[in-house]
Amino acid sequence: MIDLKTLTIRKAHEHLKKGDFSARELAENYLAEIEKKNPELNAYLEVFGDVLEQAGAADEKIKNGGGGVLLGIPFATKDNILIKGRRAGAASKILEGYVATYDATVIKKLKEAGAIFLGRANMDEFAMGSSTENSSYGVTKNPHDETRVAGGSSGGSAAAVAADLALAALGSDTGGSIRQPASFCGLVGLKPTYGAVSRFGLMAMGSSLDQIGPLAKTVGDAEIIFNAIRGQDSMDSTTISEKTYSVENLPKKFVIGVPRDFLGEGVDKKVLENFEAGLKKLQQTGAEIRDIELPNIKYSLPVYYIIMPAEISSNLARFDGVKFGAKISGANLLEDYMKTRGQLFGKEACRRIIIGTYVLSAGYYDAYYNRAVAVRKLIADDFKKVFASGVHAIATPTTPSPAFKIGEKTSDPLQMYLADIFTVTANITGLPAISIPSGFAASVDKQLPLGFQLQAPRAREDILFEIGKKFEKI
Ligand code: GLN
Repeated sequence: MIDLKTLTIRKAHEHLKKGDFSARELAENYLAEIEKKNPELNAYLEVFGDVLEQAGAADEKIKNGGGGVLLGIPFATKDNILIKGRRAGAASKILEGYVATYDATVIKKLKEAGAIFLGRANMDEFAMGSSTENSSYGVTKNPHDETRVAGGSSGGSAAAVAADLALAALGSDTGGSIRQPASFCGLVGLKPTYGAVSRFGLMAMGSSLDQIGPLAKTVGDAEIIFNAIRGQDSMDSTTISEKTYSVENLPKKFVIGVPRDFLGEGVDKKVLENFEAGLKKLQQTGAEIRDIELPNIKYSLPVYYIIMPAEISSNLARFDGVKFGAKISGANLLEDYMKTRGQLFGKEACRRIIIGTYVLSAGYYDAYYNRAVAVRKLIADDFKKVFASGVHAIATPTTPSPAFKIGEKTSDPLQMYLADIFTVTANITGLPAISIPSGFAASVDKQLPLGFQLQAPRAREDILFEIGKKFEKI
């Protein structure tokens, strides 16, 4: 038996290289764990049938002395990322039966690196949600407390890594969907700079907000995956060039900004205590903690919940029963559309399509969408100003509370949306952000993980990794 609990990508790579175990043995260990735990956790929607063949091919390459650090490393991938020839469904009934016809760019890159794909991870339908309760295939449970959610929308990816059903995972983050489940499950989650990672082959949710990124056990692992999947891509014109990344050296002493005004109301006391302890840790690493002001950050959530549904309403227009997935036939084409969309989209998808259509409609466009776009710019300018004043990274908690109970927020969408208060800003500004495990909050009988979030200037993931590694060590 391989000790999966303490395994990281770096360690697994060393073992594979030395021949302590083969990629096949590693994959077998993960498959055994999946068989044992997935029926209860529901982290995977599908486990691929050819995992051992993939691992066998990796072993061949290892034998021949080839390959890099990801060769033979088993991944879970979120169900909205396309892998050629495999089912992909964004956990939606409307995509029942859909098989991807091409590889997402991130998948192509991971395949080239020799990674193993274990299966499709559960998620909120089309990545809309904070708890995986919006999946059409049942909720994913939190491995730390199975009465609680694993977070969302990349809840399946997070639970898989946290329960040792994968060594790492890919998620997507439109408003926190990598960082929030990472925080709830005790993992590192990175939302890269907008444009750092190609979105080609990711089912679009909010195209100006979406990024693919890693969920992993350590900052070092997240960095390895980020470096493997990033890069300019002719298939996604929003990707940024390598030149953007040829930046200055890391500072000797980090200045960490804290937007104090933003940390009061609605935030769990245990979260605030944990956050203060996190700041102390950073001070121990020699960092300076500085209070900062981000006057428009309080509008982040309303801005996000206007821009995001507007983009969803147009992105989801393509799912009409004609081109992709399932169809319910009516008497004519219009009825086909209405039946297919009305019956196969879940409640949250319908809610957001309706809100998005509303904020974009004639007469309301200026009052909602245009204003949100204008405030988005103000928020981004606030961040620029702070970074220009000598602050290297901005710290907040990742979430206002630890993982909540399954069912606790399902009847109140506003409460659910509030869970995203600290994460949506990085998507609005396009800045990179990371959630790092920062210890636990005690609940009645279980220890619930918490996360510490850092945001950095554009294309400065290196700052996040550097501070993150120091934070992790203390
Ligand atoms: N929880 C947020 C939402 O429901 C974020 C989703 C995401 O990042 N994909 O929109």
